[in-house]
Amino acid sequence: MLGAKIHSAADRGEVERVALFDEAQVRVILLDIEGTTTPIDFVYKTLFPYASRKLESFLRENSANPEIGALIEDLRAQHELDERNGLKPPSWRDDSEEERMRSSAAYGQWLIARDSKCTALKSLQGKIWQQGYASGELKGEVYPDVPAAFERWKRKGKIIGIYSSGSVLAQQLLFGSIPAGDVTRYISVFFDTRVGAKTDAESYRKIGASFSEEPKRFLFISDSSKETEVAQLAGMQALLCERGPHATAPPGAQKVIHDFEGVFAD
Ligand SMILES: [Mg+2]
Repeated sequence: MLGAKIHSAADRGEVERVALFDEAQVRVILLDIEGTTTPIDFVYKTLFPYASRKLESFLRENSANPEIGALIEDLRAQHELDERNGLKPPSWRDDSEEERMRSSAAYGQWLIARDSKCTALKSLQGKIWQQGYASGELKGEVYPDVPAAFERWKRKGKIIGIYSSGSVLAQQLLFGSIPAGDVTRYISVFFDTRVGAKTDAESYRKIGASFSEEPKRFLFISDSSKETEVAQLAGMQALLCERGPHATAPPGAQKVIHDFEGVFAD
């Protein structure tokens, strides 16, 4: 069956029946998180400040853990790169363990303030959030239509995947602790920036190749028109998800939805 019920960006408010995507082809639904399944505010007003608050104490408490030690080394390497590129990160000192801890924490804060996608930082944030979720201080958040959509898509035999710049661990923690319960059982696969940048078509090609499914069998949904464009370049079908009033897409340029209700509706 072709089509779904939508409001097009050009004629907002008018419900019409149009071919949003080729439903018969879609086997895998690949979802962005920030702004798509989850309010951006959850990330910027809850998660990031939490990681920022806990970063220094977390590094101190876990510096003897080899995994954390390796991430601090990765931060050190990224710091050198940033300095060489003239980005002027806060200075880094290795004179003593104390200086090293203070430097890594200060640099981590600097990266967080820049909304850096640095993989080492993302891994550290993921581990800090893990502690927060485990203690119950943090709970995941999704838009109200998301749990029902997951259930519906799964029932219809679709494979649900996530592709987000948050680490895979952070993604699993988020979907594992929403107020409706643990919805990770609906999600078959998680991708983060280890597969590549979300604005690079090659990343979507790699994700496609990892399934041995043709690219057109994928429906990628994101609030970023840059991301949906490159997913389409890689041959995937794509929908732009505009939640709330912060529409950024040029009207009519892309297939737009405002929630998941019309995607494989019953
Ligand atoms: Mg997004």
